[in-house]
Amino acid sequence: MIRSFEYVILGGGVAAGYAALEFVRRKGDAAPGELCIISDEDVRFLSLPAGDVKFMGNSDFVMFAGGTRLPAFHTCVGANDELLKAEWYKIHGVELILGTRVISADVRQKTLRTFHDETISYKTLIVATGAKALKLEEFRGSDAENVCYLRNIKDAEKLVGIMKSYPDGNAVVIGGGYIGMECAAALVANNIKVTMVFPEKYCMSRLFTPKLAEFYEELLHVKRSYFHQRNCSFVLGGLIFGKVTTAILRDHRRLPANLVVVGIGARANTELFEGQLAMERGGIKVNEQMQTSDASVYAVGDVAAFPVKLLGGDVRRLEHVDCARRTARHAVTAALSPAAAAAGDIDYLPFFYSRVFALSWRFYGDNAGEAVHFGDFSLSSSAPPKFGAFWVSQGRIAGAFLEGGTPEEYDAIATPCGVERRCRTWLSSRGRASRSL
Ligand SMILES: Cc1cc2nc3c(=O)[nH]c(=O)nc-3n(C[C@H](O)[C@H](O)[C@H](O)COP(=O)(O)OP(=O)(O)OC[C@H]3O[C@@H](n4cnc5c(N)ncnc54)[C@H](O)[C@@H]3O)c2cc1C
Repeated sequence: MIRSFEYVILGGGVAAGYAALEFVRRKGDAAPGELCIISDEDVRFLSLPAGDVKFMGNSDFVMFAGGTRLPAFHTCVGANDELLKAEWYKIHGVELILGTRVISADVRQKTLRTFHDETISYKTLIVATGAKALKLEEFRGSDAENVCYLRNIKDAEKLVGIMKSYPDGNAVVIGGGYIGMECAAALVANNIKVTMVFPEKYCMSRLFTPKLAEFYEELLHVKRSYFHQRNCSFVLGGLIFGKVTTAILRDHRRLPANLVVVGIGARANTELFEGQLAMERGGIKVNEQMQTSDASVYAVGDVAAFPVKLLGGDVRRLEHVDCARRTARHAVTAALSPAAAAAGDIDYLPFFYSRVFALSWRFYGDNAGEAVHFGDFSLSSSAPPKFGAFWVSQGRIAGAFLEGGTPEEYDAIATPCGVERRCRTWLSSRGRASRSL
């Protein structure tokens, strides 16, 4: 069977939902055969962004930012946007082809072949296939039933199921990035004893300074294990009835484990297009319009490697919700405007955020250069913590980090020059010489 659409969005995550939203905003309701979304997940974009999986308070459920329970949280919604429930897609004529894996793509023929042996043809394709969690496959027990990865709703449900079976149990969280940090906080909040294990000297080492990391590690109250050597290998031993009971570390330390969460990064889902589209930085390379090396194909979200103006046009792949939203919107604007200039060049200011318990931080820009800290890092203060850092590179502010900001304060640092202006103000209000600016 062959079905034809003018526009096809491949993927059912954050970027796909925002691409559909932008399409409808700009063009109005889709006509039959005009726009479809194909995803191998059934509920994903009706339920959650992987990135907002949260376990909050003492709930025995996976919960999300804002305290919304499964399955009421919706992926494709920004703070002020409308909720995109299944009904929304129906009303606006967006055809949903769910539970359908695309197993091959032919860019020259402009077709996709699905697992159900259906061919879908397109005039314009928007690839939003995201990324998959990297597996720690090299050790025994990595596929045991209490080893969890976190990328989609099934993963989250599995993790919650195991948590429920071990109240007051022991978890080993492998990886000190976003997922490790957020999971550790969530597990601790659910009374699970956590040991974080990672090869770097401190958590979130790609973004944080040691001082920032120290604050959140202290806050976490986790029993931490640090490993300073890279390529740490973890041999999971004590497998009983298919379950890991002990995590054995390279230095032979043994950690009790009812549950192991692995958060060691992700790999972009590019396989369908290898050898057909140009690739860079592990993703599908796009230009300033989010257009790939084939003019009919755009790539957005985690799978796309795009030029970041602020970084001198360096091509980057940024795995973040905000980036997924903005690249999706930009690609749709460009795809709908035959004159490429209509969309302008994407000018993305890298923006990351995260929450640890009730606290939350934001970072804008680039953490290049020398870091200068400001604010009160003490945990004992009765006021909510408020502190941050900014990075100075070649005499300019390259990036800024702020914990506990107000919406206005975050807004103020949310532009490249805003980053600079705001940091200068902080500096002068604290009597710091802006020597390097
Ligand atoms: C646990 C976790 C915590 C995170 N925390 C944060 C955070 O605090 N802040 C932040 O900004 N970001 C965070 N992120 C990152 C954020 O979730 C991602 O950047 C975002 O989801 C990317 O959106 P996407 O649409 O590109 O990809 P995804 O949301 O991954 O969507 C990809 C979609 O494509 C589908 N798909 C893939 N291949 C095929 C195929 N062959 N056929 C059909 N369908 C296919 C997938 O099933 C999926 O539906 C986190 C991520 C994780 C996993």
